[in-house]
Amino acid sequence: MKFEPVIGLEIHVELLTKTKIFCGCSTTFGEEPNTQTCPVCLGLPGSRPLLNKKAVEFAIKASLALNCDIVDYTTFDRKNYFYADLPKGYQISQYFFPTGTNGYVDINVNGENKRVRIHQLHLEEDTGKLLHAGSIIDSPYSRVDFNRAGVPLIEIVTEADIRSAEEARIFLQKLRTILLYTEVSDCKMEEGSMRCDANISIRPEGSEVFGIRTELKNMNSFKAVHKGIEYEIKRQKKVLKSDSEVIPETRHWNESKGITTAMRSKFKASDYRCFPDPNVLPVKNSSEWIDNIKKSLPELPDEKIERFVKEYNLPQYDAEVLTGSKELAEFYDQTVSLYPNPKFVSNWVMGELIGLLNARKEDISCCEITPTNLAKLFQLIDNQTISGKIAKTVFEEMFETGKDPETIVKEKNLVQISDAGELEKIVEMVIESNPGPVADFKGGKKKALGFLVGQIMKETKGQANPQAVNKLLAEKLK
Ligand code: ADP
Ligand code: MG
Ligand code: ZN
Repeated sequence: MKFEPVIGLEIHVELLTKTKIFCGCSTTFGEEPNTQTCPVCLGLPGSRPLLNKKAVEFAIKASLALNCDIVDYTTFDRKNYFYADLPKGYQISQYFFPTGTNGYVDINVNGENKRVRIHQLHLEEDTGKLLHAGSIIDSPYSRVDFNRAGVPLIEIVTEADIRSAEEARIFLQKLRTILLYTEVSDCKMEEGSMRCDANISIRPEGSEVFGIRTELKNMNSFKAVHKGIEYEIKRQKKVLKSDSEVIPETRHWNESKGITTAMRSKFKASDYRCFPDPNVLPVKNSSEWIDNIKKSLPELPDEKIERFVKEYNLPQYDAEVLTGSKELAEFYDQTVSLYPNPKFVSNWVMGELIGLLNARKEDISCCEITPTNLAKLFQLIDNQTISGKIAKTVFEEMFETGKDPETIVKEKNLVQISDAGELEKIVEMVIESNPGPVADFKGGKKKALGFLVGQIMKETKGQANPQAVNKLLAEKLK
């Protein structure tokens, strides 16, 4: 029997507000434990939360970017449970009226468009963080850091529309790109500001009903999401093929062993006894405010892709690569405005620039090359000051030093040799010292010409003007 995976994701994203959601404590990551706390985020009795408007604004902004409907009235509700990183005994979350509902994200799977629906986006507070130490034998203990407690989070819940580990990875990457465009989060998976849980089940191909799912936690990179889901699908297939049933449970992705292990079973749906927190007033999102937030949205990846294809006549693939980050897209836009040859600029940005950035594990924000200087480099090729090949050398130097191309060409004496007199001497010399290939060429072997051109380029360290060389060589060989 063939099985089809069914996957729904729950993604937690920390918002980039300066202060926490219900108090004035800083949200800066990586400070000394428990230095960013107060009675409110420590959950001390009698303390009272005060809602951070920016957090609500960011949640609306993210919801709009994910094509959600925005709620006009909402409460902040207590979700009751006990855990050591949650001293109040409840987490404040939007249980009854999530900020956004009914959204979607379009992804490209093997060249086909696929829509993943967003069930909802809600706002809540992050918990503290437990740091486990010791060992079972050697008195285990845990410490808790409350710096993270009360950092605003959005939780994004997808419908179970995803059908493979690869689709999950593509979706997550697209989601991250969109959120980065909106600037509501830095989405650093390695710092935990973007965290993903995956609900996974499998069903016989053609079946309409969902199978029993497990929920996979602790995947903190795109690779882990991919590998974890892939493993879980295989594991569930084995279970079903051995005539057993999948146990509904939460499972842990063990990165170092590359396996998932059971954490806790989920036979009963938990009842968190949610109710609106009487200390936080309900919130009305006026349509005027929502409209203003909508207006503050930047051009989003899909709109950019469409514009790049239409306005610049770029292939879809180029448009997708160039819009991979807002900064890269802006760099490209600016360069094209100075040097209006979109495909030529795209080839350079996708090939040379992204190539060097990837090799250095850097991103465009630390790039020394400016659109102005890149456009100047292209003009130097056009006016035949340098050849396309030398331009690549100049480009690398620009990348390293941030110098402008004219200075580099002068300093390194890279100006192309187009002077017929000077080239003629070199051409003659190469003809003289390569009688074999010359005879080959005259005997009809066209390939021999390429060899001779190569020799001339070698003599001139690549600085000979290729057109001039070809012309001279053809004349001399007649
Ligand atoms: P919970 O409250 O237990 O986390 P939800 O109903 O909120 O459960 O669902 C969480 C996620 O699980 C959603 O993304 C949803 O699409 C997905 N999901 C629900 N049922 C299944 C299933 N049978 N297989 C895969 N994913 C599922
Ligand atoms: Mg869940
Ligand atoms: Zn605080």
